[in-house]
Amino acid sequence: MTVNLLDFDAIGLADFFAEHGEKPFRARQVLRWMHRFGQSDFDAMTDIAKSLREKLRSLASVTPPSIVSDQFSDDGTRKFLFDVGDGNAVETVFIPEDDRGTLCVSTQAGCALDCSFCSTGKQGFNRNLTVAEIIGQLWQANRVLGADPAAERIISNVVLMGMGEPLANFESTVSALRLMLDDNAYGLSRRRVTVSTSGLVPVMDRLADECPVALAVSLHAPNDRLRDELVPINRKYPLPELMAACNRYLQKAPRDFVTFEYVMLDGVNDSDAQARELLAVTRKVSCKFNLIPFNPFPGSPYLRSPAHRIRRFAEILMDAGVVTTTRKTRGDDIDAACGQLAGQVLDKTRRTARRIIDVHEVRTR
Ligand code: SAH
Ligand code: SF4
Repeated sequence: MTVNLLDFDAIGLADFFAEHGEKPFRARQVLRWMHRFGQSDFDAMTDIAKSLREKLRSLASVTPPSIVSDQFSDDGTRKFLFDVGDGNAVETVFIPEDDRGTLCVSTQAGCALDCSFCSTGKQGFNRNLTVAEIIGQLWQANRVLGADPAAERIISNVVLMGMGEPLANFESTVSALRLMLDDNAYGLSRRRVTVSTSGLVPVMDRLADECPVALAVSLHAPNDRLRDELVPINRKYPLPELMAACNRYLQKAPRDFVTFEYVMLDGVNDSDAQARELLAVTRKVSCKFNLIPFNPFPGSPYLRSPAHRIRRFAEILMDAGVVTTTRKTRGDDIDAACGQLAGQVLDKTRRTARRIIDVHEVRTR
């Protein structure tokens, strides 16, 4: 079987080339062809010796995940569905705005963390995406959107806010991040690449050390009692630990604030008192708030907070001097809004759990 070169970041590719007796600058050239120019055909890499091209053809390939569907929303948002094999598919969303183009990328097929308001979480977990599958979403989106390396970037920002918990797939996420930042690949600014996490405290520290980028933390509740219920990982890393981790992160981060995401659930986490409690719990962290109107999905147990409630909640935060934005709900006509991404996930964890239960039942019968 051949090696997929999209699975390597710059160091990995140089190592692969070294193993085959090739110089580091050759690896850099191929990296540029693949990522900067979106080239997957070795024969088109014209400044590379024919013998090396032939060698690469026999050893390797450039294979991104394939696009199974491409849907347009009335507001310009575009959603791609990628085949990641074995009946699984993940989603990627492109959100054009006046001053930037943002690609929302997935990192796992499903998610094991099971937040109660999240469609991805409700589907269960299949597996981590590979580096090629994560960076391949950007590679393919650039190609389909007609990106021209000589012109202004169509995709200027990347957010790891699609399906999955990026910090639960740390190694592959970091390699993909490194490619996003590499001048020979996508050359994005660290400040324009954002990892969103539900709060895996020890891994936040690793990210700060190994590849600091902008950070968003999914808070969603102002106290541990409610957060334990909405974001179950809170039972392992409760709010005081999470706030301390945010401050440690900020010491190494490219931005001087953390963005706290807060999904607005009618009658659950959206009262005036809860806004004040939220200010108290986050007061030691330099932060901004991003309120996300809840996006319903089939079978979801919550309702979206009414617009006046969201406005009032935002006002309380802003009156205390904290920058607060409310996310525009975009792409909801094609189920591309936050938390609606469902893709296609064949849940392994629950199937395994069910199997264990079946076996148990058989034994005790
Ligand atoms: N796992 C990571 C990143 C993916 S989720 C995380 O949880 O941060 C991206 C964002 O969408 C998170 O803030 C998540 O809490 C939010 N989200 C999930 N389900 C949602 C829904 N139904 N409506 C609105 N936002 C949702
Ligand atoms: Fe996973 Fe994020 Fe969804 Fe929670 S909100 S289940 S961490 S994808």
